[in-house]
Amino acid sequence: KELPADPVLENTRRQVKSACFSYVTPKKTSKPKLLHVSPDMLKNLGLTEEDSKSEVFLNVFTGNKVLPNTKPYAMCYAGHQFGNWAGQLGDGRAINLAEVEHNNKSWVLQLKGAGETPYSRTADGLAVLRSSIREYLCSEAMHHLGVPTTRALSLSITGDEVLRDVMYNGNPDYEKGAIVCRVSPSFLRFGNYEIFAARQDHETLKTLVDFTIKHHFAHLGNPSKETYLAFFNEVTQRTLNMIIEWQRVGFVHGVMNTDNMSILGLTIDYGPYGWLEGFDFGWTPNTTDSEHKRYRYGNQPNIGLWNLYQLANALYPLVEEVEPFETILNQYKTDFDIKSLNMMRSKLGLEKEHEADKLMIQDLEDNLLFTEADMTIFFRTLSDFDKDNSLEGLSIVSDAFYVPTEISDSIRQKWNEWFGRYATRLQEESLSNSERKEKMNAVNPKYVLRNYMAQLAIDEADKGNYELIDELFNLLKNPYAEQPEQQKWFAKRPEWARHKVGCSM
Ligand code: AMP
Ligand code: MG
Ligand code: MG
Repeated sequence: KELPADPVLENTRRQVKSACFSYVTPKKTSKPKLLHVSPDMLKNLGLTEEDSKSEVFLNVFTGNKVLPNTKPYAMCYAGHQFGNWAGQLGDGRAINLAEVEHNNKSWVLQLKGAGETPYSRTADGLAVLRSSIREYLCSEAMHHLGVPTTRALSLSITGDEVLRDVMYNGNPDYEKGAIVCRVSPSFLRFGNYEIFAARQDHETLKTLVDFTIKHHFAHLGNPSKETYLAFFNEVTQRTLNMIIEWQRVGFVHGVMNTDNMSILGLTIDYGPYGWLEGFDFGWTPNTTDSEHKRYRYGNQPNIGLWNLYQLANALYPLVEEVEPFETILNQYKTDFDIKSLNMMRSKLGLEKEHEADKLMIQDLEDNLLFTEADMTIFFRTLSDFDKDNSLEGLSIVSDAFYVPTEISDSIRQKWNEWFGRYATRLQEESLSNSERKEKMNAVNPKYVLRNYMAQLAIDEADKGNYELIDELFNLLKNPYAEQPEQQKWFAKRPEWARHKVGCSM
């Protein structure tokens, strides 16, 4: 490691100064059991299925064994939580085990839920089964959807019980402890840089930024003011691209605090995330954010920008000029409008760019909201639309509506009018119906991890049955494929799941 490390060699909670990370030891688990392994990640790391069945694998990825010549560590970071400066946060329940290089790619292996670290503050450093299943399934699913994300190698239970304290949900019931091994080229977040700027520790800030560029943005060249700005520019672009992908698939992160923003533009920290079912810019799955809805679906792009402002503030001491940062940040807004429009065009199978598309898309979004249309089902079934038969439009997408369209003439009329415009617009395209269908089905997933699906897997797992985890894992490996035998997962959320949202802790 070329970064300053905390000289104290113990896990106890403390403020850590002038260091980017602290060495820690994972907590021993009493009766660990591996529930699932990602074959894709095994391959990326150069491991075999055989390896994953070994005692060593089980022990390493549940914290019971530290690999020879490795020194696990927890990272020091701060962050803005819900718009407020929160000071030192850090890896409170994440422990980086080691780095693996394979096929010219470098991966950090990180255990989530392996016990306290200097950054655990008032919490226990542990994770429960339900939140671990949610992260494990969703992060791999996001990868297969083509959304930049951290990955997951394994999901285990520890055999220990975990008490979720009143700070989070007031529920004193014991739950099964679990550990996910997350994997990413880096787990650095905006908050890793913010902490040194806030402490005016410009030396460590520079060390960390130079390290980041050398290891993850080497194409930008040697450290200089220009390189720092190019770095910021690239982080801006990547962040924007990631959020556009979230919007495309209807993913709502739920806690876009700056400590949950990856410097590599990867989706990180799967907590109370959720998937849009009824299309609604105002929706958030995070019940602790239900008043202001800061992190609602339609606000994710703005929050991305707000977070980038915080990163710009953190990097400012290395550049000492405001203007170039502002130029980059302003570009985000312009780029967002263009990219967002093009993303929506792709969902509609439009290849050409027409001025009136924007309005047509806005009217579509109004209709979707107004009739509570399921985002995934709507766009997927829309690929069957016949551009020469617009009057059939509504019946083609009829499975998508939570509010039956039959109930109101005015709703039917609104939709028929929109389908008429869409049909006219499609006449200006050169693709045939079937060519368009193929293109649309490659950007509009058929299967996403609806909240109730994860919940069913959790309920089964609580009873000791892990088959549904495997079924959903495999389903979500091919989210754009038809998979007719899995049609039951291509369905609206059942009524019982309407107001249920995920719990993150
Ligand atoms: P999050 O809201 O998950 O992004 O977490 C915010 C901060 O709280 C991070 O520093 C986490 O590491 C820390 N944290 C969350 N849950 C726990 C826990 N059970 N034990 C220790 N630290 C935690
Ligand atoms: Mg976090
Ligand atoms: Mg979290």
